[in-house]
Amino acid sequence: MPGCMLPAVMAAGMSTPAQLGLLAPGPRVGMVPPSAVKLVYGTPLAHRLDTKNFSIQWVSASMSVSTARRVGEYMEEAWLALVWGEGWMAPTSSDAYLLTVILDPSLGGTGLTLIVEDEAYPRGVPLMYIHPEWDNAPAFLTSLCAHEFSHALQFGHRDWYSGGGTESWYWEASAEWHAEQAQPSANTYAWSAQYYAAAPQADHYSLAGYHQYGMFLLNAYLDEYRIGSDGFRDIWQENQDLDWTEEIAGAVGDEPAAIWAGFGAAYISESLRESHLYTLPVTVDGTTALEGWLGSHYIPLGAVSGEITLDGGVGAVVRGEQWVVFEGRAEIPSAEGEAWLVVVNPDPSPLRYSYSLGPESDPDTGETERPGPVQELGSLSDLAGLKGRGCGCATGTTGRVGWYLMPMLLWRRRAARG
Ligand SMILES: [Zn+2]
Repeated sequence: MPGCMLPAVMAAGMSTPAQLGLLAPGPRVGMVPPSAVKLVYGTPLAHRLDTKNFSIQWVSASMSVSTARRVGEYMEEAWLALVWGEGWMAPTSSDAYLLTVILDPSLGGTGLTLIVEDEAYPRGVPLMYIHPEWDNAPAFLTSLCAHEFSHALQFGHRDWYSGGGTESWYWEASAEWHAEQAQPSANTYAWSAQYYAAAPQADHYSLAGYHQYGMFLLNAYLDEYRIGSDGFRDIWQENQDLDWTEEIAGAVGDEPAAIWAGFGAAYISESLRESHLYTLPVTVDGTTALEGWLGSHYIPLGAVSGEITLDGGVGAVVRGEQWVVFEGRAEIPSAEGEAWLVVVNPDPSPLRYSYSLGPESDPDTGETERPGPVQELGSLSDLAGLKGRGCGCATGTTGRVGWYLMPMLLWRRRAARG
């Protein structure tokens, strides 16, 4: 959702509709009334259409009411999927008040969500904006509504403005994944994969070229392979105001670089559930430095087998739908197809690394020669293991198979030679 204005607004340090020159309902006055029916928050704009949980408002009488009706419908669908379906806590103000959605044709982007300060609600009251021109693209509008509603949910758990430069990427990466969860058949979220695919080597928190939206791919991997959608939700709902990499590592129970290597492996092997919709990443030959913190290089290896040695960073060696996350040395999976090496930079400074292949297995003789010294196996505690399609959503424990599998494979090979 590259038209979402929230990252730019955050970067500019602005947080209120007045600072941004945007329409807003008048402030709430008086006590929060006990009511069985949700009330409109503050003084509404001239025109409005209320649904069960939202008040869709606009100014111009020339705007079609049917646009408001559709936005209300899509917002309710997002509420149903994310609050009821995925168990996200609704914004606290929504116990008493409808959530305000303003249709603003002068909006400088597709959508925006802000927080209005209110002493009755310490986390603030969400205020969503949608550009009504997207009514002519219904699939996009459904995703846009889910994306902005996602931000309204996120503000209930995290203070955007205190997070610094590594904060906003995960808001957008998560709002994009929410768009998929809320509208699984719309698939417009998948367009954002191109923004990661164009610069996988960038810092994980990069906001250049809409990179943050493409980082939904990480959430696809976390959801589908590591912690499920409940785990994805709990990264937010149980966050401790730490940097996102620490929150994600804590939720998964693995080091960030190992998590990113697994993500890269699932992505390049097209093992994510909707991989057929995702743009694949730019590739490199492994001779250039890897610039970004938790940035990744995707290196095609061709039809190789045997072992691979990597002298820096965290790797994943992939073939078919199998992969091994490793440091130091690993056995290339014996599945069908071309092999890939994914290299992840675990540090904020650029990573210089090299890799080598060998020895290769010869299926006729089983005899191979080791072309020079091979590095010692990396720390076993740093190794994560084999993971393939069909294993379902898993906790971090499945990532440890390689601990014993790799030495066993090496032993087998030596035994066969001997
Ligand atoms: Zn956004």
